[in-house]
Amino acid sequence: MEIERRTLIAAAPLLAAGSACAQGRGRTLGYAIVGLGGYGLGRIIPEFKNCTRSRLAAVVSGDPAKAKKVADEHGLGADAIYSYDDFDRIRDNPDVDIVYVCLPNSMHAEYTIRAARAGKHVMCEKPMAISVAECEAMIAACKAANRKLMIGYRCHFEATNIAAMRLAKSADTGKIRYVRSEHGFNAGDPTAWRLKRALSGGGSLMDMGIYSLQAARYMTGEEPIAVTARESTDRTDPRFREVEDMIDWTLEFPSGAIAGCQSMYSANQNRILLMGTRGRVELEPATRYEGNRLWTGRDGREQEVSPPPGPGKTQFAGQLDHLSACVQDGGTPIVSGEEGLRDMRIIEAIYRSAREGRTIRLA
Ligand code: NAD
Repeated sequence: MEIERRTLIAAAPLLAAGSACAQGRGRTLGYAIVGLGGYGLGRIIPEFKNCTRSRLAAVVSGDPAKAKKVADEHGLGADAIYSYDDFDRIRDNPDVDIVYVCLPNSMHAEYTIRAARAGKHVMCEKPMAISVAECEAMIAACKAANRKLMIGYRCHFEATNIAAMRLAKSADTGKIRYVRSEHGFNAGDPTAWRLKRALSGGGSLMDMGIYSLQAARYMTGEEPIAVTARESTDRTDPRFREVEDMIDWTLEFPSGAIAGCQSMYSANQNRILLMGTRGRVELEPATRYEGNRLWTGRDGREQEVSPPPGPGKTQFAGQLDHLSACVQDGGTPIVSGEEGLRDMRIIEAIYRSAREGRTIRLA
């Protein structure tokens, strides 16, 4: 237990700096939430009450009745409601500083670019888009408009993952040799947009595998140099006519570390395991909204670690306030558009490797 205590105390100043940042100076920044679905409405909007620098300022929806109901519940007037068609009018609303894109993946690029052109900073959900070309266009649009772009990689603001990142770098863990990460859930409705290639851009990899990929990168702190992947999908299953179910891939890192990653749409799993030369770090569940757990040990789960608080009251509040702080204080988001682009380059290489049955070298 002493080992974890020392490592986490060493991390405390950094975490404290994050929370001091989120204490807030000056006015809170206004967010417009685009897409009132499971994540935008169900998860993000309720989090503004936990924020110190961010507030809900507008909603964008294709459903006027739903938008009015949400606006009424949050004390917003009719002038804070936009449809997808009149979204560009948001440029005339000085109350909106940041647009948060919570739409199906294939719509991320369009709404990010339209938001930047309307003079707004952008938070865009993961995956950043459905191709490298789209990610590059999004970065270029935000640069041209001198606006910030951040990707909704909430785990960077989640206490258990932050503690694990510290432990991964600690002498007690030693040199990281191997990472294993699996993410998945049992997909239901075959008509859902996640299972339609035109809207999702791909299957479990785009949705859940991106957590495994992110974990491999943020836990090792390295960029992969090669990827080898294979896919297993039952194409007679009506859910998987257009997108993959299971995909498994191996990343090679410059230090010699290897990451074995996987995602699937036919079982529930949520796990990260780090094997260092001196010890191991394990998270399960690893990247859920709540209830993530962390263990260290030499041979197994020997000690459960209680992480110190993260930078926000919740990971979502920490994420929202981080972008507000970057806008107010002139910083760069720790999970910028470039970070989303890096993942998309690797995702394209994973798909290519699975398709061509060979290892793909990454530049
Ligand atoms: P959802 O299906 O619950 O909501 C999607 C929203 O987009 C709905 O309001 C829907 O009406 C709207 N929409 C507009 N045009 C649409 C179209 N042509 N087809 C379907 N819906 C359309 O999805 P969600 O779970 O809220 O996911 C939205 C985004 O958020 C996705 O990019 C997803 O990857 C991301 N997400 C991230 C997390 C996370 O933990 N970071 C969790 C869930 C979802």
